[in-house]
Amino acid sequence: MSGQRVDRRRFLRSTAVVSVAGAYAASSTGEAQAAPKARGKSTSATFQWFGTAGWRIDIGSRTLLVDPYLSRYDTGMFTGSFDPATELTVATGTVDRHVGRPETVLVTHSHWDHFNDVPYIAQKTGARVIGTMTAYNLARASDVPSGQLGLVKGGEVLDFGAYTVEVVASLHSRNAAYSVALPGVRLTQPEKPHTVADLPEGDTLAYQVTVKDGPSVFFMGGSDFVERNVAGLSPDVAMIAMQASDSTYAYAERIITALGRPPVVVPVHWDNFETALTNPPKPDPSVKPHLDAFVAAVGKISPRTKVVLPEYLTPYRFA
Ligand SMILES: [Zn+2]
Repeated sequence: MSGQRVDRRRFLRSTAVVSVAGAYAASSTGEAQAAPKARGKSTSATFQWFGTAGWRIDIGSRTLLVDPYLSRYDTGMFTGSFDPATELTVATGTVDRHVGRPETVLVTHSHWDHFNDVPYIAQKTGARVIGTMTAYNLARASDVPSGQLGLVKGGEVLDFGAYTVEVVASLHSRNAAYSVALPGVRLTQPEKPHTVADLPEGDTLAYQVTVKDGPSVFFMGGSDFVERNVAGLSPDVAMIAMQASDSTYAYAERIITALGRPPVVVPVHWDNFETALTNPPKPDPSVKPHLDAFVAAVGKISPRTKVVLPEYLTPYRFA
């Protein structure tokens, strides 16, 4: 078991990150490293970043999504006038173009920049939504049938055949005032959500998706975590949410170490998510210094880790 793990990680190190589009991702040092093509791995899995913490994962003909937020409308967040009364809207054309036919949607938490598009996707495609009690109640209030909703807490290991999903009880990002934006839980079904403020955080989860005969990939939506909950996960690839403050002690050191120094680390939630999905992604100015510090810290803590700054809607393969 552990021998296999070591072999896989060595494999990942030697083959690095390959995009099926043919372009190699830039590494942490900025140079575009040509990597040899992946050899011999069986299950084909591709990963496309939707911006924020959103991902589309295609495993053979099966699709799952993580925090798919494609509507990216203006709340004033990036112009200094955030309005929590902003109406929830769904850019249905954009969503329809990019989500494919998902069977599973993993929700880390219920803030709008993670959850906004989820009820629409669930209703349109019939996908099953996995999330917290709050996500469950907000989805029901948004007319998603309860039979499509999988309520989880952390600790579950769900078997989907071609892949498993381990649910990890986690934490939301903390701002400079040591507090969480739009806090709250919904323990019963509320009124139908209409505004950004109607979607509270509702506790935060992380997920480790392990592709059968393929990589194990850790997904975060909020930039904090419970060290003891992630210890031993040892993913091959870790999608790590960037912070906008220094309120959490030694974030980079603690998460990289607790995850067992993953061979590949992909920073997420560092872009301005109220712009169109066009490359190159525009960094959120309040997160950019933290992103740069994180990348530098990973280089020190785990020099063999490859840091990949993702581009939008670009298919990546990790094994
Ligand atoms: Zn959030």
